[in-house]
This record gives sequence, C-alpha cells and structure tokens, in this order.
Amino acid sequence: MSRQGIEIDQSEDYDQAKDCVDEHASGDDTENRIPLSRRRSLGLASLRSVLDRKPLASNLPTVPANGNCQKPHAFRKVDATEYTVDMTEAEWLTCTDPIRMVKAARARMRHRKLRLFAVACCHRIEDLLPDPRSRMAIAAAEQHADGAITEMQLREARVAAGAAHSDSFDRLGKVGACFEWAAEFAADRVAFKAAESASWMTHTARKIGEPTPADYTFQADIIRDIFGNPFHPVSVDPSCLPRDVTALALTIYDERAFDRMPELADALEREGCANVDVLEHCRGPGPHVRGCWVVDMLLRRG
Ligand SMILES: [Zn+2]
Repeated sequence: MSRQGIEIDQSEDYDQAKDCVDEHASGDDTENRIPLSRRRSLGLASLRSVLDRKPLASNLPTVPANGNCQKPHAFRKVDATEYTVDMTEAEWLTCTDPIRMVKAARARMRHRKLRLFAVACCHRIEDLLPDPRSRMAIAAAEQHADGAITEMQLREARVAAGAAHSDSFDRLGKVGACFEWAAEFAADRVAFKAAESASWMTHTARKIGEPTPADYTFQADIIRDIFGNPFHPVSVDPSCLPRDVTALALTIYDERAFDRMPELADALEREGCANVDVLEHCRGPGPHVRGCWVVDMLLRRG
C-alpha cells in the first residue's frame, strides 16, 4: 500500500508499530484522554512560552579554586557488585541492541540518563522532522532531564508533539509517521518508556528497509557513552579538582563542545588522573552526547 509516495509495508515492523499504538492507547498517561481537537489546538505560542527559557542551568559545583583535597587520587573504582547487569561485560562492550542493554541494566539506570538517551536518538533524526512541535518536544525532554522545566511543561510539549504525530499519521500512516512518534515519546512522562520507544521509533525508517541516522549500532555506542562500563564503574570527588577542569567540563556540556574531550583528558592528566578508562574515553572516537558518563561524573550529574 502506498500513500503519498510512502510505502506502507505490512511486515513484522508494521505489526510492531501497531502493537505500540495499541499499547500507547491503553496507557494510563493522561495525554491519551485529551481529545485530538484539543491536542491540535495547542499552539506553538504556548509551547514557546514553555521552552523560551535560559539554557540549562550552569550549576557549576562549588569546589575550591585549587584542589585542596589531600587524597592521592581523586578517581577511584567503585565496587562493581553494586551494579546488577543482566549480561556479561563482553556482551555489554560489543552489544548492538540498545533496547537489550537498557533492559539489562535498567535497575541501575537513572531517569535522567534514560531521558538523555531518548533525546540523543531523536537528535539524529531531527533534521527529518519538519514540524516544530516535534522538535520542541525533543528540546523539552532534554530540558526536563536537567530539571529546567516542570513535569507539567513536559506534558504540554508531549501533547503538542502528539498532535504533530497525528497530523503526520494522517498523511503518511503509522510507519511513515515513526519519527514524529519518536519525538512524542521522548517527552513521555515515564523515562524508561521514552528511552525504549524513542530508540525503536528512530531506528525504524519511514520506509521499511531504509537505514536511519539513529540505527541500533549508533544507539548502542550512545548507551555506552551515557552509562559507561557498569562492570568497571569509576567515581571522582570533584572537590579534588581545580575549578578550571570542572569549568571545562561544564562548557563541553552546555555548548555540546564534545570535540574538546581530548582537551579535558589533558587537563585531568595534569591534575594527576591516571585512570585509563577516563582518559581513553575522553581521547577515544566517541560519540559523546549530553549525559556522557565522564562529563557527568565531573559535574556531579547522575
Ligand atoms: Zn563520552
């Protein structure tokens, strides 16, 4: 079946999409009980009032101007037995199934991290989203992850993105509207659902069989960037680091200046950091996104 040039395939993916629709419709989230006419009436102006806020709070940790910590090593390994991950370390390091990774380590994944993973998936397909309501929902999800907007404001963004999805659905069908659907899910009230559904929807091409910028291989690398290696967790006391190091980490985060990660590695090394996991991560090929475990660790963001 074809609609406006978009092939709608009655395949397994299509059935999964339908299952997701049914699950979505039967959910307990209040947005689904809002009439479509009301959802569509939510204008961009109200959304912009939600989103037209300062960038993410620059809450630089309060640390001494110079590292006065007497500890010989600021970085320490954490007891990995604290972490419950339902796969082996070798599987974690090579896995290309992000949803399996999320499920395997779900017990240890904080909501903020899950939300940022959903956002990272959506950023990869953002250029393919013509409707500003969808793009605003992604921005709202990211702001909510860092506490910059309220649950209610996230809900408003999601309702508007739902209307954008409905419009796309009418034109393109279920699979054709999968990217708008992903943006809607990124702003879901439940962070795990946002992560799982945005992952699947951004991986699913508008035309079955076509690759997407957010394929599972990319997403698995993002999972490892955000959550690190749960079998070798590392912690650091930022108060043992000078302000310029944490300031650089904050700049990288706020400005998405991840090309400066090697510079961060150099700064950490000058301060005595010899942790191979940290240094190799900063100097590695990436990808890095907001939620990167090294940057978060330096900024005390979980
Ligand atoms: Zn990273």
